[in-house]
Amino acid sequence: MKEDLKQEVIDFSLKLNSTNLSPLRSGNLSVRVKIDGEDGFYITPSGVMYQRMKLSDIVFMSLDTEYDNLKIANSGLNPSSEWRFHQDIYRKKPEAKAIVHAHSPHATAISTHRKTIPPFHYMIALMGGDDIKCAEYATFGTKELSKNILIALENRKACLMANHGQIAFDESLSKAFELAQEVENICHQYFLAIKLGEPKNLNFAEMQKVLEKVKGYKRG
Ligand code: 13P
Ligand code: ZN
Repeated sequence: MKEDLKQEVIDFSLKLNSTNLSPLRSGNLSVRVKIDGEDGFYITPSGVMYQRMKLSDIVFMSLDTEYDNLKIANSGLNPSSEWRFHQDIYRKKPEAKAIVHAHSPHATAISTHRKTIPPFHYMIALMGGDDIKCAEYATFGTKELSKNILIALENRKACLMANHGQIAFDESLSKAFELAQEVENICHQYFLAIKLGEPKNLNFAEMQKVLEKVKGYKRG
């Protein structure tokens, strides 16, 4: 059972690479798990090529333990350098069961403009509201970055990270992965739309209607 969950982490890590959502060693992902009564999560190791990742490389982290990646850098595998924001999201949002962080091409390109994506398309509603926020810039792997991400994720299941990429969470790894793909798709569409000038946005009332409608949209 726990091995199955680790295998799922490997499977979706390979998919990050094969779909180009976040190739090579970029990005990371995790899934919530309880081991011997301890609440925590399985997370990808830091700096390991997805294609070379083994079951034994997947790191368990508790929800309330601090790690020092630099200190343990030379003794075995570290958890992802971004364990802080994974841990903080699981602590703050009980509905988050899995998290995908990706350097997907269009989301990353848009993130360098540090822009909130407005409701130019109704599918923005899949992320939980009428826009996709961009977390303020902070160095990767820092507590400051984690704080900025939590602000951008208020009432949302996904956000961009300035000059870095994107994050999506959901109730399973497959759903979180799909949401990260949706974010990338929306960013691609936005990238094309702004080439023609400023797109017309849907208004607040329309987005409220859409937010209600998308609640029961996904079936299987
Ligand atoms: P890790 O290999 O440490 O997870 O780093 C990848 C990354 O995307 C950092 O933001
Ligand atoms: Zn990253």
